[in-house]
Amino acid sequence: MQIIVQKTLMKLMLVCTRICLRLCVILWVCAAPAYSADLEGIRFGENSDHTRIVIDASQAIKPRTFMLADPYRLVTDLPQATWNSKQDVKALGLVSGIRHGLFTGDIYRLVLDLKSPAVMASSFALAPNGRYGHRYVIDIKPTSRQSFLAEVQKTRPLRPVSTETASVPFNPEAKKRVGGKRVIVLDAGHGGPDPGNLGVIGVHEKVITLKIARAVRDELQRTGRYDVYLTRDRDIFHKVRERFRIARRRGAELFISIHADAINKPSVKGGSVYNLSETASDKEAARLAVRENKSDVIAGVNLEEADDEVSGILIELAQRETMNYSAQFAEILVGELKREIPMLRRAHRFANLGMLKAPDVPSVLLEAGYLTNKKNARLLNSKDGQKRIARAVRRAIDRYFNQMAALGR
Ligand SMILES: [Zn+2]
Repeated sequence: MQIIVQKTLMKLMLVCTRICLRLCVILWVCAAPAYSADLEGIRFGENSDHTRIVIDASQAIKPRTFMLADPYRLVTDLPQATWNSKQDVKALGLVSGIRHGLFTGDIYRLVLDLKSPAVMASSFALAPNGRYGHRYVIDIKPTSRQSFLAEVQKTRPLRPVSTETASVPFNPEAKKRVGGKRVIVLDAGHGGPDPGNLGVIGVHEKVITLKIARAVRDELQRTGRYDVYLTRDRDIFHKVRERFRIARRRGAELFISIHADAINKPSVKGGSVYNLSETASDKEAARLAVRENKSDVIAGVNLEEADDEVSGILIELAQRETMNYSAQFAEILVGELKREIPMLRRAHRFANLGMLKAPDVPSVLLEAGYLTNKKNARLLNSKDGQKRIARAVRRAIDRYFNQMAALGR
């Protein structure tokens, strides 16, 4: 009897050891970082008419480079790379500006603005030497507009698929609420290589919009009445239209794109709420639409890519109803925001904004205030300011859906 017990115990111990070993392997695999190169900086050099761009990295990198016209840009995509540098990159020679950031799930993107048309004269990798580590060198030289345009065609990228959007399943049934919860999608404006406006307090719009979006999400989730999704919960780029696609795929009943404005008058402060309209409500709204719609250009998106997501929907019918609901929500939101933060005198405005074009999801764009006004920028960047906005948005959403419920929707 004792021997049988001992044998069983031994077997049990063996099984336990095996399970432990397997667990360790699984944990080790999960914890091990995926292959990723650290980008350690970008340097520029001038040599006769050539401009040299040197990317420093922790290991050998193989960028993919292409050109875009109007404005002239050179875009370099680095798969599996992360920026790991505090260096303040200064453009030089044929390059007039540079932006960088996470473009999709695993591609780090550098966007170089060119002063005039230029093409790649050569590009090559360099192995470490005594002074430098791994480098990738791109030499560019001036060219005519015509040959630049030819280069644009030649280097055309394949349509990039955002892994983040693709991972969101399209679910038209989602609007049939599970557990009575309404679905809200919050869109933190800008991100990755598109930083948005730079505030007088030195913080970019993309940072502030994400803080506000998170505060609003937390406030809404605490009520237990809403399922809330963010289009991004980190510093990553989404195309303008991808933002409302995420809302549609989530089956959202409301989409709020969050931004912060800038103007060359430091005294101007206050928030505003925008609805979609072909014609802008005023000059400033028209200028704002130009700025906000520029996001794709800033992040180096090829605008010629076909956009077929919305075709096949009875746009006119759906859009008319959607626009009515969008306007109702905007009115309520302006009223609630006025109780918490400074708002512009005419705070409900209209503009042709790409992110508001979902034909079947009521949408508004909230410009929470001006980053060019010190007090306003500080408020938006503060926990208190973010909480105030979150409270106002929550009350507005409650009121809006109460109205909807009264209409049997
Ligand atoms: Zn913005």
